[in-house]
Amino acid sequence: MNTPSIIKERTVEYSSDSNTTASMDSQSECSESGSTSSWADTDLVEPHVGYKKVLVTGGAGFIGSHVAEYLLARGDDVVIIDEINDYYDVSIKESNLKLLKDTYPEEGRVSIYRGDICDRKLLQSIFETENIKWICHMAARAGVRPSIEDPFVYIHSNINATTHLMELAHKHGIENFVFASSSSVYGGSKSTFFSEDEVVDHPVSPYAASKKTCELLAYTYHHLYQLKVTGLRFFTVYGPRGRPDMAPFKFTDRIYRGVEMQQFGDGSSSRDYTFISDIVDGVVRSIDRPYDYQIFNLGKGDGTSLKTFINLVQKNVGKKAIIKILPDQPGDVPYTCADVAKAKHLLGYRSKIAFEDGIKMTVDWYVNKYARSQETKEAVVNTICALPSAVAV
Ligand code: NAD
Repeated sequence: MNTPSIIKERTVEYSSDSNTTASMDSQSECSESGSTSSWADTDLVEPHVGYKKVLVTGGAGFIGSHVAEYLLARGDDVVIIDEINDYYDVSIKESNLKLLKDTYPEEGRVSIYRGDICDRKLLQSIFETENIKWICHMAARAGVRPSIEDPFVYIHSNINATTHLMELAHKHGIENFVFASSSSVYGGSKSTFFSEDEVVDHPVSPYAASKKTCELLAYTYHHLYQLKVTGLRFFTVYGPRGRPDMAPFKFTDRIYRGVEMQQFGDGSSSRDYTFISDIVDGVVRSIDRPYDYQIFNLGKGDGTSLKTFINLVQKNVGKKAIIKILPDQPGDVPYTCADVAKAKHLLGYRSKIAFEDGIKMTVDWYVNKYARSQETKEAVVNTICALPSAVAV
């Protein structure tokens, strides 16, 4: 096993560019507040470069399946646990798994377990059977609005599941535990851009509260058992195979099919949309660098207004949107923009994909893969293998 070593580096100085606020039609830039950052003197952890077998929870989902694909492509093996719930069309999740299995059919490259992370017996048997040392925990109930309607499922799948996983992680000597948090934790913030040094004690939805809770529990497991834990606050992720409940997919789908779409607010709200390959890069950099306990923003680092976003989808789909304007929704954050200075410094993370390019790739995937597969109603082959204690598929 290649043990990561610590490199002492001089503090990197960041430019003190002033903040630029979002305008209706143009992209706005987020600046970085590196000069007074708490992490500036943190020792850098050298990346682990050897082979890994990684447990990817939520590997049937959007981000998890992309991370698994990347790890497999570079030669690591992947074990997936996913309950494949029906929060959105399960055929998307099943085709994500099929893609992984078809691309890497060799024995031991991808092992897939269908089941709930809170199923202690199942989880225990996976740890014992697979001899896992690295964890990438992407499974969760996502979505702000549904969490207001049914908070209990978020307590189960986000808080309970993460606790189950960390319990086993420390008992099995896991090298690094990386998990998905969310930019939603900044919900109550008045800042124009969000840095990890902010106090995020005012989550405005059960979803955000569940992610903040996971960050706190992660610290506790680090403190008690020296588990190496990194939490990643993703900022609105989009791209091919994206979640159908999120705006990039929804808008593309509605505009493509000529169906009326809802726009919440006047179009001036702004999001830091991050293309999936940038997120995967940040996740993998985090897996490779077992920091003691760290929280990182992973975003693009600049915002796009809703109006600009809709215009770009229209342009790429080649159709005009039919828009119904509605008031802002409770729990929605009007403006999200990541300060990514910390991830740049400690992980070497840089977002590379411009929003114009990312949305083009997303629309291309939707039109040429998703819409086409819906039309031909291709059968999805079941690719799940199961332990005796796993739910039969
Ligand atoms: P996703 O819904 O596509 O994937 C999550 C997967 O977890 C699903 O396949 C689901 O079936 C599985 N899952 C949920 N509860 C489970 C349980 N109890 N046991 C086993 N499997 C379970 O979501 P995603 O967009 O890929 O998000 C991945 C992670 O990133 C989540 O933790 C999410 O909260 C976080 N996140 C995502 C975004 C984004 O923009 N997509 C933004 C911020 C944070």
